[in-house]
Amino acid sequence: MPQTPTALLPLALATLLQAQSPFVAAPPMPSPVPVLKEYPATPAGKLLREIKEHAEVVARVDYLCDVIGPRLTGSEKLRQAQAWAKGEMVRLGAVNVHEEAYDFGLAWTRGIDTARLLTHNGIHFRVDQLAWTPGTKGTVQGDLLMVDARNLEELKAFKGHLKGRILLRTNPDDKRPPLPRRGGDFEAYQAEQTAMTQFLLDEGAMATLSMSGRKNGLSFTSGGAGRDPKKPGLPAAYVPQEPYKMLVRLLGRKEPVRLELSLGGGFSAKPVQAYNVVGEIPGRELPGEVVIVGGHLDSWDLGTGATDNATGSSVSLEVLRAFQATGLKPRRTLRVILWSGEEQGLLGSRAYVEAHKNELDAIQAVLVDDMGTGMLKGFTLQGRENCRGLMAQAIAPLNDLGVKDLSLRTMGSTDHAPFDRAGVPAFAAIQEPVDYFLGTHHSQMDYPDHLVPDQLVQGAQAMAVTAWGLAEMPARLPHGHLPAQPVAGAINPQGRP
Ligand SMILES: [Zn+2]
Repeated sequence: MPQTPTALLPLALATLLQAQSPFVAAPPMPSPVPVLKEYPATPAGKLLREIKEHAEVVARVDYLCDVIGPRLTGSEKLRQAQAWAKGEMVRLGAVNVHEEAYDFGLAWTRGIDTARLLTHNGIHFRVDQLAWTPGTKGTVQGDLLMVDARNLEELKAFKGHLKGRILLRTNPDDKRPPLPRRGGDFEAYQAEQTAMTQFLLDEGAMATLSMSGRKNGLSFTSGGAGRDPKKPGLPAAYVPQEPYKMLVRLLGRKEPVRLELSLGGGFSAKPVQAYNVVGEIPGRELPGEVVIVGGHLDSWDLGTGATDNATGSSVSLEVLRAFQATGLKPRRTLRVILWSGEEQGLLGSRAYVEAHKNELDAIQAVLVDDMGTGMLKGFTLQGRENCRGLMAQAIAPLNDLGVKDLSLRTMGSTDHAPFDRAGVPAFAAIQEPVDYFLGTHHSQMDYPDHLVPDQLVQGAQAMAVTAWGLAEMPARLPHGHLPAQPVAGAINPQGRP
C-alpha cells in the first residue's frame, strides 16, 4: 500500500533518528508468542500448561551464566556446569545419568589481551585472542601490513615482506570476486589453513588481526584447530570493526603504522578428555527405542554463553522437568544429551555418534535447540521429505503456538548434523533470531540480559510436545543416507588465519 504524505512523516523521523542512533541495524522485534486460549485435555495439553505455568528455563540460564560463567570445552567451568547438569537431571527424575568421555586434545584458557597504537593517535583498543592460538608471551611490537590473501597461492605473493610484522587479514574494502567454492570439502579447507599458518610462521610473521563481522564495538571469537598439538599456530585476534577500520585507514596514508600487542591465552600442558552429559526417562513400552533432545552446554568466553547455548541446554532440561511434573511416561525412551566441543567443530556429538554407531537404528529422532532465546517456529528436515508427514503429526498440537515450519533446508552447524550425516532423522530447531546473529552470537554481549522469557518458555513447550509426539507415535521415522545437501551456515568465513 503506497504511503500517504502524512504517514511518511513518522517514517522519515524514524529513519533520521535511526541514522543518529548508535545501533544502526537494530534487530527486528521478535514476533509475539501466540497465546493459547485453552489447553486440550491431552498429554500435549498437560505439557503445554505445566511449562507455561511453572517453567524453570530462565532460572537455569541465569545460574549457568551468572554463577558458573563461560564454559569453554576443556575448562574447569564446563566441568562445574556438567556436574551441575547431572545433579539437575537426577533432581528432574532422569535415570542412567552419566558422562561419556572422548579425546579432545589441548585445552585452552583466555588471558588478558591488549593493543595500543604506537604511532598516530596512540589509542588503546579492544582485541580478543582467537581461541586455541598461542599467545604473544608478553608484549610485542610490530609494523602493520595488510595481507588480504585468501589462499596459499595469494599468500606466497607476500614472501619476504612478513618478518616481524603484525598482519591485517580482513580487507573490509575487498572488491575482488569471491573465490570459487570448494563444495563443502572441509578437510581441504582445513589443510589449506594449516599450510597458510605454516607459511606465515616460516616467514616470521608476528601475529594476525581479523575484523569482527559486526559493528558497534561488538567483538567475536572462534577457533579450535590448535587442540591438535601437531598443528602450527600463530598468535591471532579479532578486533571490533571501528578500531579495525581505523587501522586500515591509517595504512592507507602510506605511513608506517606500529602496534603494541599482548595476547595472554595459552594451552594446557597435556591433552584432556571432554564429556557429554546424558540422562533419560525409560520408555514404558519401547525402552529400546529412543527420542533424543539436546543442545551443547559448552560456550565461547567473551560473554557468559547465555544464548549460545545455555538457552538450548536449559530448554532440554525443562523437557525432563515437564515430563516428571506431569507424570507422563513416554512410550519410547526420552534421552536428554548436553554435548560439549560443539564450538570446536561438533566434537561431542561426533564422538557420541561414533561411540554409539551400532545403536543408531534405535533412534526415532534427534531434536537440537541451539539458536538462542527466540521462539521455536519449526524444524529443519535436512532434506528428509520422507519425514515431513510424521513430523507434521508431532508438531500438530503446537500449530496454534506458532510451530508450523518444516523446511527441507539442511543446517550443518550444530549437533544434529553428525546424526544426520550418519543417516539418522535429526533436526535443528528453527527459531526467531531476536538479536542472536546481529548481537549475542559469539560476542561479549552474550549475557542473560538478552533473554526473552516468554519466547524461551514457548521453545521449551515446543521441544517437550514434539518429543512426546515422536515418543508416542506408532510409526518410526525412516532412516537413510541422503545425497550430500547444500549446507546452510557451514563454513565460517571468519575462521581464516
Ligand atoms: Zn551454539
